[in-house]
Amino acid sequence: MSLTREVARRRTFAIISHPDAGKTTLTEKLLLFAGAIQIAGSVKARKASRHASSDWMEIEKQRGISVASSVMQMEYRDCVINLLDTPGHQDFSEDTYRVLTAVDAALMVIDAANGVEPQTKRLLQVCRARNTPILTFINKLDREVREPLDLLSEIESHLGMDTVPFSWPVGMGRSFGGVFDIRQGRMRVFRAGQERRHDDEDEFIEGLDNPEIARRYGDAYAKAREEIELIQAASPEFDHEAFLGGKQTPVFFGSAINNFGVQEVLDALVDLAPHPGPRQAVQREVQPDEPRFSGVVFKVQANMDPAHRDRVAFVRVSSGRFERGMKLKIARNGKEMRPNNVVSFLSQRRELLDEAYAGDIIGIPNHGVLQLGDVLTEGEHLQFTGLPFFAPELFQAVEVKDPLRTKQLRIGLTQLGEEGAIQVFRPEAGGGALLLGAVGQLQFEVVAHRLKTEYGVEARLMPSRYNMARWFTAEDPKVLQKFMSSNAANIAYDVVDAPAFLASSPAQLRVAQELYPGIEFHAMREHG
Ligand code: GDP
Repeated sequence: MSLTREVARRRTFAIISHPDAGKTTLTEKLLLFAGAIQIAGSVKARKASRHASSDWMEIEKQRGISVASSVMQMEYRDCVINLLDTPGHQDFSEDTYRVLTAVDAALMVIDAANGVEPQTKRLLQVCRARNTPILTFINKLDREVREPLDLLSEIESHLGMDTVPFSWPVGMGRSFGGVFDIRQGRMRVFRAGQERRHDDEDEFIEGLDNPEIARRYGDAYAKAREEIELIQAASPEFDHEAFLGGKQTPVFFGSAINNFGVQEVLDALVDLAPHPGPRQAVQREVQPDEPRFSGVVFKVQANMDPAHRDRVAFVRVSSGRFERGMKLKIARNGKEMRPNNVVSFLSQRRELLDEAYAGDIIGIPNHGVLQLGDVLTEGEHLQFTGLPFFAPELFQAVEVKDPLRTKQLRIGLTQLGEEGAIQVFRPEAGGGALLLGAVGQLQFEVVAHRLKTEYGVEARLMPSRYNMARWFTAEDPKVLQKFMSSNAANIAYDVVDAPAFLASSPAQLRVAQELYPGIEFHAMREHG
């Protein structure tokens, strides 16, 4: 198959939601409908077995949140679909932002009882900033939920984009009859289902005017019909360009747990979501079907498999064809590597991979040579933009309980820092004690757990007087030098040795800004 054809049949998307909206359930059902798994329950089961084998996942279990993002690949209707899971909890939003840099579209899951929740809002802002096309799935119609029209206007006001319903619910909760497919002009009748799909049992009623719907669903039908007529008159037509530009979102209603509405979403991903497009590098625009391979590390995870203490770098292929055993160059330092045991994520098993194309995610086990934001090529020097690190808002000092384990503490923190699980700062003054910076409190707990279980280090975390950090740069090296020598007590270096100014209050930062107009302070750092 030609490179262009391979690119054209790829769909790479992230699934985003506030915790508990039904992301895990929908993910599992998408795999089920794509034929990647036979019985729903395996995604959850896999979660459970990870819990059993790794202590830090205890935190996830206890709090019912998903800490680590993962990748799943499936084939459906001659398309290769790469689905990237994201952690729902806001304390891990940095990880989610980075995952969103690796996708071409997002599927947003909304709990119909709760509408647009805080975490969804934050994620949407990132999608909006990147003009990522968004498909919307409104879940849990089998419950008594909010009015569909209200949900639509809430989404519109938060997204700042038009909603275009592709389907419409007939009733909800106990009176839920099914959803009417507005485009095809037929109603799919609801049937509670669980683990398997039952193609042969699907029941449709053709036509909005069909007396059969009126007879069976009475008031719910009358209301749905009125609403459908209203939105047909008031909503804009679906415009594919507007969707691709992040200006319209197609909306689907359903109930993931009952397998209901899942088929429609899967088909929409194939039919509407874009295939991988060009990616902007500092040097030039990279086309997905160029013959030469390039890819970016957007996530690093240490010790995924406790049996092999490896680190896996997740690489999104940007162009060309990846082949196992090919020689690759790391653009950051020119080092070469020839990865042989590269893994794909087909049907969620870590399998050895032979080839991959733009849009695919490959996992490269390594011992620390690959870092977040690294670009791999066949030799060309390329730097992609846009992998964000956010200035931490919470700080804790870290000390090891047993001084003999100091070295392990350093190793653990370096690895966890490079993975992006936490930011590690080395203060210029202060006798070598390290400072941890996080965007969310839970990150500290996860790091403390992981230091203990993966590196055998009991760390003591202590309050720090800082609560703000800003990376800084200056055009004039003399100004930079003067600023740094006068503020040595407040300067620390991060994992890539970028200097940051630490402050204990916004006022302190303001004073520094006023005193040093030649210094630029940055709340975000892009890798590179
Ligand atoms: P996540 O945190 O977004 O991954 O959410 P989960 O998929 O774990 O689902 C959260 C809860 O909602 C679980 O108890 C699910 O069983 C439940 N749930 C998911 N989909 C539906 C649905 O369509 N209807 C109902 N009633 N419950 C659902």
